[in-house]
Amino acid sequence: MDTEWMAEGKCKELSPTIFFPSDGVGVQAAQKICAECPVAGLCLEYALDERIDHGVWGGKSERERRRILRRRRVSRAIAV
Ligand code: SF4
Repeated sequence: MDTEWMAEGKCKELSPTIFFPSDGVGVQAAQKICAECPVAGLCLEYALDERIDHGVWGGKSERERRRILRRRRVSRAIAV
């Protein structure tokens, strides 16, 4: 998958540890940065496609991404 979008990410000059928080406050701090990121949509799709379990990607927490994947699976199952 194309990763050129990463060069445009708001996080590119920040510490990666911000995006791998250990608590909810940390998740919210990362999400605040992602909310202003021009490539958040691409980042989220990348994390979903690659099944990345950890960290905040595209402004979504691990739990939120699991929920999105579950919803998509259900939608695909209904469409078949
Ligand atoms: S959405 Fe967040 S994690 Fe993804 S590139 Fe942008 S700032 Fe980085």
